[in-house]
Amino acid sequence: MTDLALWFDPAKCLIDGAWVAPARGGTLPLFDPSTGEEIGAIARGTAEDVDAAVAAAEAARSGPWGRMSAAERGRILMRLGRMVEERVDDLARIEAFDVGKPLKQARADAVALARYCEFYGGAADKLMGETIPYLDGYTVYTLREPHGVTGHIVPWNYPMQIIGRSVGAALATGNSCVLKPAEDACLTALAFADMAKAAGLPDGVLNVVPGLGAEAGAALTAHPGVHHISFTGSVGTGVMVQEAAARNVVPVTLELGGKSPQVVFADADLERALPFLVNAGIQNCGQTCSASSRILVDRRVHDEVLARMAERYGALRVGPAMADLDVGPLISAKQKQIVSGFLAQGADLEVAGRAVLGEVPDGGYYVPPTLLAGVRPDHALARDEIFGPVQVVIPFDSEEEAVAIANGTDYGLVASVWSQDGGRQMRLARAIRAGQVFINNYGAGGGVELPFGGRGKSGHGREKGFEAMYGFTTLKTVAAWHG
Ligand code: NDP
Repeated sequence: MTDLALWFDPAKCLIDGAWVAPARGGTLPLFDPSTGEEIGAIARGTAEDVDAAVAAAEAARSGPWGRMSAAERGRILMRLGRMVEERVDDLARIEAFDVGKPLKQARADAVALARYCEFYGGAADKLMGETIPYLDGYTVYTLREPHGVTGHIVPWNYPMQIIGRSVGAALATGNSCVLKPAEDACLTALAFADMAKAAGLPDGVLNVVPGLGAEAGAALTAHPGVHHISFTGSVGTGVMVQEAAARNVVPVTLELGGKSPQVVFADADLERALPFLVNAGIQNCGQTCSASSRILVDRRVHDEVLARMAERYGALRVGPAMADLDVGPLISAKQKQIVSGFLAQGADLEVAGRAVLGEVPDGGYYVPPTLLAGVRPDHALARDEIFGPVQVVIPFDSEEEAVAIANGTDYGLVASVWSQDGGRQMRLARAIRAGQVFINNYGAGGGVELPFGGRGKSGHGREKGFEAMYGFTTLKTVAAWHG
């Protein structure tokens, strides 16, 4: 931990601009996923800390933050983005260490965080209402107003990117925020909030309460002083979050992962497609909400695609985050157990390709990236989110069958179509149930500018891009009669 030279104390919460120990004084152990060793402690915030954070956020709304022009909010965010850029390497080291992702992937996340600040900083003063033609003697217009206090429940897989997309848009639109990072990955959340303070964000506008989901997370989602909740995580927890929000009648944005397909037709440019097919599955050790875990392939090129993907799997290098190889460990012992359970279900399936675990530290949370063939579309491995480096390859015989298989899960987050046929590209882009469809490319986790969110059990609401600005505001209609 000392190697990381943290400039803040992770055993504290950041509330109202001050580093404070949790009210009940609790801590949680911090593990290094690359070795499984306990290497420090983080704050175990509870309902009392959430109460204090929500009160600070509410109070901040009636201070300078509530009166600040949109342009000034944008300037603070852009300043923050530049500060993040200057510390990209520090943030990447912290994230790689905390989450176990290879250094270059952590660096890409830090760069994305800077870009979110830049994007939403620039967008802050470009959100406008409308004037509406109405009856004679009236002028009617709409105002986009912040919800007030927004709650952000962030998971452990992409802390910096998810904070960037949700907190960035919430701040740009004038909300004040309470952030509950995952207990397995809270360091960059604390670092970011500290940098936001240094960038000039008034005290109380961004508060961070680390802790357990069932304690701090549940307290935040049930809090009557929270006016909007943004959640990214599992379906089961998302349902609980939505139920809690319903009791207070507040809107929620849920991003709940997926089982995203890439559909490869016989006329696809395989040379271009192959790196996308594999990377979208193994990036971040498969712990990506928009990971592509299903590869649907026209039977005419199925064997060739399978063989070429398998070759790439055989060449993957797996190791500790700081070794900066292709794949790191999973986040936790719990996640290793979940993924290993899935792999055990595939024991009788054909393993087309598997990375060899070379020298990995004992106790680290490693599983070998695995490519499975001969998986029926209704098998659990082809339907359920595994959240590990496991992809299945499924053949199809017609465009209609490809669409049916692509839409044959409860999820609908991301998809891609690989074909040179323009008509087919357009037909599939419409027919596939997903929040994003890529044509001859695939953007796992990427695209600051691109609205992102799910259909079905992948969730609802949109983050990223300008669209998120609507989600973090509420519309007021003003109708003035003037005769
Ligand atoms: P969770 O959905 O339980 O965790 C996501 C976030 O929710 C974390 O910050 C967690 O905090 C918090 N949380 C947990 N319980 C509650 C609660 N009752 N009220 C409010 N917040 C809560 O996912 P897990 O970490 O348990 O991972 C399990 C599975 O979820 C994975 O295998 C994967 O399939 C899926 N997942 C999907 C993600 C995505 O990006 N769509 C991200 C992460 C997981 P804490 O971690 O401190 O408990």
